[in-house]
Amino acid sequence: MANIEEHGRGSTPEEPARVLDIPFFRASISQTEIDAVVAVLKSGWLSTGAVAREFEQKFANYIGGGVEAIAVNSATAGLHLALEALGIGPGDEVIVPTLTFTATAEVVRYLGATVVLADIDPATRNLTLAEIRRLTTERTRAIMPVHFGGLPCDMQAILGFARERGIAVVDDAAHALPASSGNCRIGASGADATVFSFYANKTITTGEGGMLVTARRDLAERAKVMRLHGMNRDAFDRFTKKSLAWEYDVVAPGFKYNLTDIAAAIGIGQLARADLFSEQRARVAARYKRGLKGLPLDLPPDAPATDTQSWHLFTVQLKPSARVSRDDFVAHLNRKGIGFSVHYKPLHMMTYWREHGSIANQAFPVAEDHFARTASLPIFPDMTEAEVDYVIAAVRECIGGATA
Ligand SMILES: *Cc1c(COP(=O)(O)O)cnc(C)c1O
Repeated sequence: MANIEEHGRGSTPEEPARVLDIPFFRASISQTEIDAVVAVLKSGWLSTGAVAREFEQKFANYIGGGVEAIAVNSATAGLHLALEALGIGPGDEVIVPTLTFTATAEVVRYLGATVVLADIDPATRNLTLAEIRRLTTERTRAIMPVHFGGLPCDMQAILGFARERGIAVVDDAAHALPASSGNCRIGASGADATVFSFYANKTITTGEGGMLVTARRDLAERAKVMRLHGMNRDAFDRFTKKSLAWEYDVVAPGFKYNLTDIAAAIGIGQLARADLFSEQRARVAARYKRGLKGLPLDLPPDAPATDTQSWHLFTVQLKPSARVSRDDFVAHLNRKGIGFSVHYKPLHMMTYWREHGSIANQAFPVAEDHFARTASLPIFPDMTEAEVDYVIAAVRECIGGATA
């Protein structure tokens, strides 16, 4: 899946030439990022240093709300650090939507805590307060909302409930840069921590990378120590300060989660264009919505007026009246040279999570219905109108004969 998503599909030699060959995602890398990487390579300092610091500062400023930003080598690492800093451990329960990438839930298991999987809202595909309430017990220590496709969860409702009960909120914002909920940018909504991903196909990329943001100084301090082996001073401090440069203490068995300056150099260039990328993606989404109207498809919802969404994904759901299965639908896209993906096979349908997802006596009708009918169409900043129209035409060719 990672391969399909990152590179799109390639044509094989036996197949005839296609009109267009459209990847699921193509990163927008400018000369600025290329020059910045070269400058780092020539600087003599390749690992975490001044460039990573600059990226963190710029990212924190971009998010606002007085947060601190902690650069890590993946969102998975950031989510792990956030839960570790909160002291989550065996016996604790953490509520996670079943419709997410496995990384959201796996970090809970790293710490020996229990994943409690939740069903989703049929329209937004996000966690709902009703489902959170239903699943909360005296052991619930954290809630991990996922902003599916970049459409924000109702953070004020979730935070209001969580604060009342003394439960932490760590939102997985892997899809949600930039996005806002209730006029508050995701990352500055008051959650205990928010984690962004810079994986190859995310809204901004560093190849691999992520950012943990938090307004809680205690969490920030712990995450910074645990990001680099549990050392109380990082390598940059030790090798650039003049006095006692060799000395450090180890205060915990930490991890190796730091982001390199090489990656951070790409991130600085990408962050500078995050708003532009977002506008470009919104334009693609709007064109899809116009072009796919009247077909037997449920199209992704617009954000409410108080919110903005990142349009990381453009997921459609085939209505029963389409009379085409999801698998036949994506096979058609594939024949047309169009990259696609499926977000997601729900976690409770996976072998590991069936056994470890605390799902006894639980049903997930909404997530299962979504999964059976969904496909994600290509969406990326440099996608041309001709490319969008080509995808629309291919979809119409497949299901245009059916009634909506
Ligand atoms: C991509 C993704 C992650 C993991 O991000 P990495 O940076 O690859 O660790 C986590 N959660 C969701 C919802 C994602 O889409």
